[in-house]
Amino acid sequence: MKKVVVAAVVVGAAAACGGAAYVVRRRMEKSRKWGKAMGIVKELDEKCATPLGKLRQVADAMAVEMHAGLASEGGSKLKMLISFVDNLPSGDEEGLFYALDLGGTNFRVLRVKLGGTDRGVVQQEFEEVSIPPELMVATSEELFDYIAEALAKFVSTESEGLHPEPNKQRELGFTFSFPVRQTSISSGTLIRWTKGFDIKDAVGKDVVGKLISALERNGVDMRVTALVNDTVGTLAGGRYYNNDVIAAVILGTGTNAAYVERATAIPKWHGPLPKSGEMVINMEWGNFRSSHLPLTEYDVALDEESLNPGEQIYEKMISGLYLGEIVRRVLCKLAEEACFFGDTVPSKLKTSFILSTPHMSAMHHDTSPDLKVVASKLKDVFGISNTSLRARKVIVDICDIIASRGACLSAAGILGILKKLARDTLKQGENQKSVIALDGGLFEHYTKFRDCMEDTLKELLGDEVSETIVIEHSNDGSGIGAALLAASHSQYLAEE
Ligand code: ADP
Ligand code: MG
Repeated sequence: MKKVVVAAVVVGAAAACGGAAYVVRRRMEKSRKWGKAMGIVKELDEKCATPLGKLRQVADAMAVEMHAGLASEGGSKLKMLISFVDNLPSGDEEGLFYALDLGGTNFRVLRVKLGGTDRGVVQQEFEEVSIPPELMVATSEELFDYIAEALAKFVSTESEGLHPEPNKQRELGFTFSFPVRQTSISSGTLIRWTKGFDIKDAVGKDVVGKLISALERNGVDMRVTALVNDTVGTLAGGRYYNNDVIAAVILGTGTNAAYVERATAIPKWHGPLPKSGEMVINMEWGNFRSSHLPLTEYDVALDEESLNPGEQIYEKMISGLYLGEIVRRVLCKLAEEACFFGDTVPSKLKTSFILSTPHMSAMHHDTSPDLKVVASKLKDVFGISNTSLRARKVIVDICDIIASRGACLSAAGILGILKKLARDTLKQGENQKSVIALDGGLFEHYTKFRDCMEDTLKELLGDEVSETIVIEHSNDGSGIGAALLAASHSQYLAEE
């Protein structure tokens, strides 16, 4: 009996000993993996760094590319497209106008009644319709028919006071947020798609022609009076309310900028010099790239696997379509190489674009002590549960690294424009204000991104110059802007 007890004790002790060794080994393995994970995050942080010196180099490169793109067609990655808008709204615009804003994720239809001098927008109605993802890669007929149908429905709901005058055709400003080579204020050919769209039969074609055919097919009697890029629309909308607006930047699904240029500074412009002496330029800055951009392995892989490899590199580091996806790629590497979410890689983590920027933003803004928003996003998006608090903290850090890099690079882009216009320094005796109209879902809703962008721009400019530069949120300025440009190019203007 005694013997047996002794034996049992010995066996028990051996097991306990083996168990302890096992626990120790597990702990060591865990800490080795954690160390590996921290190494990956540290490297990410270093590669994404955007010290002011680097941002100045980016701004300088942006200004150089602007010059090159204005000098000649194809002279730069920046297309610097001529918008044919040489007269921004004065405030005297009057009448009922429609706008259609095709951006990326959604499109908006809008009608406004402009009251004329000093009366502003007296009435407006709008509707937002989401674009089914399958239409983003369908035929142009399918996409434009879908839009025309929605417009037809919207027209049928005109309320009191928002009908066109008798014998007047409805007029539309069409905001189309993709690179277009304009041939006049109301026509232009699509250069290429961006932001996840890929409708091959539209490239190289007149987008207004496509829209007009769809309107005809769907029984909508409407004239397309102005074709504008969303940045140009935002600039026009911004100028309507504030005379000091000189540029517009969109931070939404994609990113882009437009600004007012002296006509004589556009060597590639061969038309008559506009009376105003000015021309709005659609930079298509999303396609900017420079050796100064802090690219990582995640950006390179994202680009290679995208619909438009080699293009829109700046946009892919900054804008709403991509930020969440970059974070997903980092998390995926952590899972694969450092077992960050356990011994197996959660399968959903491998699905591209499953983590949207709004998800990322929600995690980044999580202020709860146990980071429960992060936990719930991980559960909802990837099916991951049981993460430790310190792992969730790391995820917040990753969101911060990626969002801050995007925000700093956007600030550098804005500095580039100010440099090109020589508004990045103070001129003796001048007290000129420069207002930049900002719009887009990323800017509007991602508070940490927006704050970081504004703070960085201030730092880059210094206190004194910062006093003269204003970032103004132009809420849905592009829609109103397109309607305003339709008004200033109305077919009925000449008659009055
Ligand atoms: P578009 O650029 O398609 O014209 P928006 O300007 O409305 O449309 O921007 C929509 C984009 O803004 C979304 O694709 C998303 O990336 C981003 N966004 C929207 N809401 C948020 C949010 N809460 N946090 C972060 N990003 C957001
Ligand atoms: Mg938009």
